[in-house]
Amino acid sequence: IKTIGVLTSGGDAPGMNAAIRAVVRAALFKGYKVKGVRHGYNGLLTGDIVDMNLRSVSEIIHRGGTILYTARCLEFKTLEGQQKAAQACREAGIDALVVIGGDGSFRGAKDMAAQGIPCIGIPGTIDNDIACSDYTIGYDTAMNTAVEMIDKLRDTTQSHDRCSVVEVMGRNAGYIALNTGIAVGALVTLIPEVPFDLDRDVISKMKETQKTGKKHFIIVVAEGAGKASDIANEIQARTGIDSRATVLGHVQRGGSPTLRDRVTASRMGYHAIELINKGIFNRVVATRAESIVDYDISVALSMYKTIDTALLDISHAISI
Ligand code: ADP
Repeated sequence: IKTIGVLTSGGDAPGMNAAIRAVVRAALFKGYKVKGVRHGYNGLLTGDIVDMNLRSVSEIIHRGGTILYTARCLEFKTLEGQQKAAQACREAGIDALVVIGGDGSFRGAKDMAAQGIPCIGIPGTIDNDIACSDYTIGYDTAMNTAVEMIDKLRDTTQSHDRCSVVEVMGRNAGYIALNTGIAVGALVTLIPEVPFDLDRDVISKMKETQKTGKKHFIIVVAEGAGKASDIANEIQARTGIDSRATVLGHVQRGGSPTLRDRVTASRMGYHAIELINKGIFNRVVATRAESIVDYDISVALSMYKTIDTALLDISHAISI
C-alpha cells in the first residue's frame, strides 16, 4: 500500500473533519500518500479526487460538517457502479480506502473490498446506530446541541405553562432521545425501541404531575417513534393544555464538535491507519468500553446493538 484514499459518505456528522484530519496526518506521518475523495462514493465515479497534504487538513479539527463533502450515491449501489469505482481507485493509484460514515457506507466499503480495494470503515453518524460500536463520531455533539436547544425551549414553555413536544433525530434509534430526555428533564421520552401508549404513558402522567403542581411539560420524541406535531395535537385535544411541537431537525447535525467527538475521531482515524500499516484490511473501527477496537466489516454489519432501557426507568422515576 502506497496511497490511501479517504472519503465521507451518508449523513454528515460533527467530528468527521477531525477524523479526516487524523487519517490524513497519521497516514502522512507513516509515509503514505493520501488522496481525498469528495462527495462520498460519487467522487470515485466522477473523478472528484484531490491530493491531501499536511496543510490540507489545517483549521478543521473544530469545524462541523466535512471538508470532503458527503453524498448518497445510488449508482454506486449497483455492481457496475462498484466496478467503476474500483477501477477509478486503481486509476487514481488509491491502494486502500478509509470510509467515514454509517452502516450504508460500510456496505459500500464491503462491496469495494469485494472488488479488490481494501477498506477500513470509521463510524461517523450522530445517531449512534452502528451496532459494532458503543459510540459513533458526532453523537455527543448532536446531543449537546439538542440539550442547548431544549433548554431554551424550556424557558418559554415554562413562562406560558405549555407542553412542548420536541422531536430529536436518531433515524430508527432512540439513543439521542433517551440521553437528551434525561439531560433536559423531560417528563416522558418516546423512543422507537419501546412501544408506548399515549394515554397510559404520556397523558395520564401529565395529569398525575399536575396534581403535585407541575404546570409545564417537555416531551422528547425520537424521530423514529412518532411525529411531534401529531403528538402535540393529540395532547392538546385530550388535556386542553396548550401544546406546541418543535422539530429540532438539521441543526443537530452541525456545529463545532465536542471534546469527546474530536478525541474519538482522532483515535479512530489513527487506528484506521495503524490497521492499514499492519496489513489488516476490511475492518470497521469501533469503541468498546472506552477502548478502540475493530471488527471484520461483514461481522460488524451483522451485529445487533440494544439500547439501555434502564435509562428510561431512571427518566421515568425522576420526572414525576
Ligand atoms: P449511512 O452511511 O449514513 O448509513 P446511507 O445508508 O445513505 O448512509 O449510505 C451512504 C451511501 O453508501 C449510499 O448512498 C451508497 O452510495 C452507499 N451504500 C449504501 N448502502 C449500500 C449497499 N447496500 N451497497 C453498496 N453501497 C451502499
